[in-house]
Formats: sequence, structure tokens, C-alpha cells
Amino acid sequence: MGTFYVTTAIPYVNAEPHLGFALELVQADVLARYHRLIGDDAFFLTGTDENSLTNVLAAERESLAVRSLVDRNAELFRSLTGTLGISNDDFIRTASDRRHLEGATCFWQACERAGDLYRRAYQGLYCVRCECFYTAEELHDGRCPEHEIVPETVEEENYFFRLSRYTAQLAELLESRVVEIVPAFRHAEIQAFVVRGLTDFSISRTAARARGWGIPVPGDPGQVMYVWFDALTNYVTALGYATDAACYRRYWTDASRRVHVIGKDILRFHAVYWPAMLLSAGIPLPTTIRVHGFLTRDGRRMSKTLGTGVNPVALVREWGVDAVRYWLLHDVPPTDDADYTDESFARSYVADLANDLGNLLNRTVSMIHRYRGAVVPLASRRGSSALVTAATALPATLHRALGDVWDPRLALDAIFAVITCGNRAVDETKPWALARAEGDGDVDATLRLDTLLHDLVESLRLVAEALRPLLPDTAERMATQLGVGLATRWTQGLEWSDTATLTRVGEPLPLFPKRRGAR
Ligand SMILES: [Zn+2]
Repeated sequence: MGTFYVTTAIPYVNAEPHLGFALELVQADVLARYHRLIGDDAFFLTGTDENSLTNVLAAERESLAVRSLVDRNAELFRSLTGTLGISNDDFIRTASDRRHLEGATCFWQACERAGDLYRRAYQGLYCVRCECFYTAEELHDGRCPEHEIVPETVEEENYFFRLSRYTAQLAELLESRVVEIVPAFRHAEIQAFVVRGLTDFSISRTAARARGWGIPVPGDPGQVMYVWFDALTNYVTALGYATDAACYRRYWTDASRRVHVIGKDILRFHAVYWPAMLLSAGIPLPTTIRVHGFLTRDGRRMSKTLGTGVNPVALVREWGVDAVRYWLLHDVPPTDDADYTDESFARSYVADLANDLGNLLNRTVSMIHRYRGAVVPLASRRGSSALVTAATALPATLHRALGDVWDPRLALDAIFAVITCGNRAVDETKPWALARAEGDGDVDATLRLDTLLHDLVESLRLVAEALRPLLPDTAERMATQLGVGLATRWTQGLEWSDTATLTRVGEPLPLFPKRRGAR
């Protein structure tokens, strides 16, 4: 048992949430749910990054007050957590939460006391959409590589953070894996970047350029904090870095694991700038940074303007929450890019969820109604060894997939191996023939049918347990239909049992009904 803290990055709120952020929420949610199940004291944070100039510009385009735009859009992100069944313990908003304003201010002052902040003139090429400066070499044909817009040349007095001072220390912490970046090739990429030497970076801008929006630099009202500087501190300000010492100590300072789940585009901010800021402020570093890839649609970058985006809310409305979670966890490699197509999504739904899992549950519950008056029989002998073997292999695979190697696909593959064995056991044992023989007084047929039905319920109970961190809604609905309870903690309940008590199954209802888009 330990204390486990996990966060997503906090997205800008200048546009609606997209499927890529849904991926990040679901990945972090699986980690949080898994750690709660194994008995860790887990805390899961998400939220919104609101102090950015992009919000000011978006609000100007819509003739809205910035505050109104931010409030309206932050609500879309908050409601997305509900839509996706995300189990976050908290939701931080960087422009409206007092604890963040106070915490970011306090953090700045800690870096200042460490002698790491100084003021100097700065000129650079600035992309307002990225909120960051580019060197001329980093641009593509003079344009921002992310947004394909021409950056502004900006010259002003700024505060700088002495990142250069932390080059050796960061290199050592990465080398010793005190901070570990997953996957390993990203760890190597950041190590190589740090070893080349780090340069100080600007952490403020003039209040005028920020249109007065943002967190003021303490003692210098002419400047506001550079949005990345304040945003990164959300991971500690949310816990109460400046406002709740006990909570902050419990989930940050004293936590056994501090995990950030992020996209590959913001790795440098999280693996270089943020750890250096923490070193400066005298605060422990994250232990793990888990990096996911990008989603494309039909091979093209998802973009609202190109009409190639996928709206996660619409997808949930059409297919149900766990169909979306399943696609994100099964069809997307956890640390790589993936391509969304309507066809691949529908295929996963029909083949895996409806035909394999849904069908096995439905035929099992229906047979127990038909042959045993809704009461699950006891097993009187060994049934299908393949089914029992697959089901008893589940716990080890779950811990490996969700705890050690971080690949939810391995967990789902093991779960679906049990389902395949279950369906095969039905097809091979032919319960309808056993029921006929039983009617003719064949005692052996009764014992065989009892055993099959028991084993199906027991393996589906284990499947429901195993699905809890991944597809929690499905797990609950399965347990209700099977008439079984789920364990409070995974210290029990994950082992195969031949001696389950006589329980009554519920009504058979389709778990994954036929959908319009499914063929
Ligand atoms: Zn850009």
C-alpha cells in the first residue's frame, strides 16, 4: 500500500475538448481506479488551463468577456469527465480557484528566494496559439510547426528562470531514474536534450501584451506570469501547496508515486522545465511521466476547421461510454499514435463488445433462467479446464498490464481470452442437449450442466472484476445481471471459486445493444 497521485495535463479552454484529451482522461482514470482497487491511497486531479492569451483572443473573436468564455468552456471539460465516467477527485481551474492564485504566487516567491529569477530584455518569435517562443530553426517555412501561423516578433523586459543552473542536477536525476519517463525512448530523448545544456527561459510577459489577463508577478504589477509557469504549478497548488499543508504533504511530498499523464507535444515542459522549477522551490519531483501519442482520423490530423475532429461527447451519445473507453484502451497503443476510423470503432463494438462479451453474458443469464429457475447452481466437478485456466491467469496479467508495464491492451486481451473460452465452452458442451438429456433422467447431464453454468457465472464475475478499472459501467451492469457483489479491494475476489453460494441472477439485458452505426 502506498499513496498514489495521478494527474492529466490541464488543457486550454479556447475550444471544445477533443478525443485526444478523452484518451488522456481515460488513461489516468484507469491508473487511479487500479491503484484504489489494490488498496493505495490514490488522488486523481484534472482541470483547465485558463490564464492563456489564447482565451483572450478567443473571447475577443466572440465579443465575450474573457471570464465568461473561460467559465463556459471550462464547464465543457468538467462535464466531459462525467460523460466518460472519470473518477477524478478534484478539478482545478487556474483562473478561478483561489488556491491556485495563492499557490502560484507562493511558488514564484520560492524560486525568487532561491535566486533563480531575474529580469532582462528579451526578443523572440512568439506563437500566441502555442504560448511559446520559437527559434528561427524550429519554424517550418517561417511558420509555427503546430499551428502553421506566422509568429509575432516580440521584444520586452521579462523575468527569466535560471534553467541553466539545473542542467547537471536534472541530467543526474534522469540518469538515476528518480524521474522516469515512459516510454523509454522518450526518456532517452529528454536525457539527450538535457545533456546538450539548458538555457534560461522567459517566465513572464508584460501585462499589456497579456491584455491584463493572468496571474500578476508578485511585487511587479506590470508583468503577469508566463502561462506555462503558472499552469505547471497546478499539480501542487490543487493539493494546497499554499492553502492546505496536510493535503499537500499527503499527496505530493509524502506520496510514494507522483504520476503525470501527458501528450507527447508537451513533454519538454513536464520533463525539463517543471522538474527544474520544483528543484528551485525545494519540492520533490514527479516520479513518473507517462506520455501518450496523438490521434488522427482517417490518417489526417484531427482539426475542427478541416472537419476531421471527433467529438468524444457525440461518440458517447451514439455508442455508450464504455464503447468509447474500450476503443481508447484497446485500439490505441498507450504510448503511440493511433488512427480513428468509423469502421474500426464499429468493428470493436460489434465483434468484441456485442458479439463476444455481450453475447456470453446474455446467453449465460438466459440459460440460468431457463434451466435453473434463475438460481446459479454449484459446481460438482471440474469443468472446462481452458476456461478455468484463462480465468485464473487474469490477476497476474492485470497487475502486469496496469501496474508494471502499463499496457491496458494486455489486460483486455487476457479478459477477452476468458470470454472466448466461455463462448467455446458453451458451444462444445451444448447445454441445450444436456437439458434435454436431463429431462430424460440422465443424472450425469444434470451435473455437467450445473458445472457449466456455475463456471460461466464464475468466469463472468472475474471478468467483471477485471473490467472495473477499464470499463467500470460495464463491470457494474454485469455484476447486477449476474447477481454477484464486487470486491471492495483486490486483495480478495480475484481468485476462482468453486464454492460460490447459490445466488439469483438478474434479468438478462443486452450489455451492448445494436446501434445505428453498427453493421
Ligand atoms: Zn503554435
